[in-house]
Amino acid sequence: MKLSSRISSIKPSPTLEITVKANALRAEGRDVIGFGAGEPDFDTPDTIKKAAVKAIEEGFTKYTPVDGIVELKDAIIKKLKRDNQLDYTRSEIVVSCGAKHTLYNITQVLFEETDEVIIPSPYWVSYLDMVILSGATPVIIGTDPAQGFKISPRQLEKAITAKTKAIIINSPANPTGVVYTLPELKALAEVIGEKEVLVISDDIYEKIIYDDMHFCNIASLSEEMKRLTIVVNGVSKTYSMTGWRIGYAAGPEEIVAAITKLQSQNTSNPTSISQCAAVEALNGNQSSIGEMVDEFKKRRDFIVDALNDIPGISCMLPQGAFYVFPDVSACYGKVYNGKKISSSSDFAAYLLDEANVAVVPGADFGNDKHIRLSYATSLRHIEEGMKRITNAVLKLS
Ligand SMILES: *Cc1c(COP(=O)(O)O)cnc(C)c1O
Repeated sequence: MKLSSRISSIKPSPTLEITVKANALRAEGRDVIGFGAGEPDFDTPDTIKKAAVKAIEEGFTKYTPVDGIVELKDAIIKKLKRDNQLDYTRSEIVVSCGAKHTLYNITQVLFEETDEVIIPSPYWVSYLDMVILSGATPVIIGTDPAQGFKISPRQLEKAITAKTKAIIINSPANPTGVVYTLPELKALAEVIGEKEVLVISDDIYEKIIYDDMHFCNIASLSEEMKRLTIVVNGVSKTYSMTGWRIGYAAGPEEIVAAITKLQSQNTSNPTSISQCAAVEALNGNQSSIGEMVDEFKKRRDFIVDALNDIPGISCMLPQGAFYVFPDVSACYGKVYNGKKISSSSDFAAYLLDEANVAVVPGADFGNDKHIRLSYATSLRHIEEGMKRITNAVLKLS
């Protein structure tokens, strides 16, 4: 069977793959500790579940408008006003089946072969493949821990060409947990505004933020930036609702209408029941978020200290999301059982084989010196995992 060249140009999501692999090993009876998960380990709050049950009982189980029900659009409009001081109308909002779907739709309606799309690295795995699938060329701006994993205005300026269509900004970021400050965004906005480049602002980790850092969206800096920005967000991470599949875009009407048209030819509306749950998530009591973030912060502090205690590993303190992205490259060149470790995937394979610990190689996020660990797992698991990684690293010579 000859599949399309389009599908052959991309790879499966490695983070989902590592979870599948860890689960398969567990099914074989191996006691694997997984740091691969890209989702909160908390339950969806009860009030949200109840809203979904009510929707089912009331028979709200049919097609809805393709771009989402009015109640949800209004809840999103209220949220963007309340949390981000951004004003949108219903025709500037489209609800999709998760923020991943939103991002996919955006890349499909905006990009084509002649376009370049700027992606700061380390990047979330799917940006790259989505851009490739659209036919456009990804232009990667590399960053390292010395610059706090943040791109500078100068780097951005150098990366922009006549073909540049858009830049993807993700703050707090997956996999680094880096958060751009208001002055940093202002400096980037100056370059972006001057060059008239679109911004795709992936705000999915907006609420998972620590140490009195304040979330800021580049769209809120000026009317001009708002005109250039498509805000992407969803309920998956904030409300532990990854399985419900609700994400959304807010932005220029023309782009939103194009997304709605595309969606009308593939998924149609996102699940009616999930939309009702998302209305409750956005409009209801927000206290579950604070509780979740407090717990994540404890784990973050523990895991960063534990990693920095391991000889050969160094880890920056992330200020948002629920990942750490330590540099493990000091272990490269070392040998165990005659096998030499020389890349992040070798290192991850070593940890899985020898220590029963699942992590994601940094190469998948564009940086081969690092690995990604999610701390969306219990403190008990994290403690045990850190012991195993320590022992495994000490065995290398
Ligand atoms: C998890 C994640 C998403 C997608 O979330 P959905 O579950 O599809 O809403 C988007 N961007 C980043 C950076 C993520 O980590």
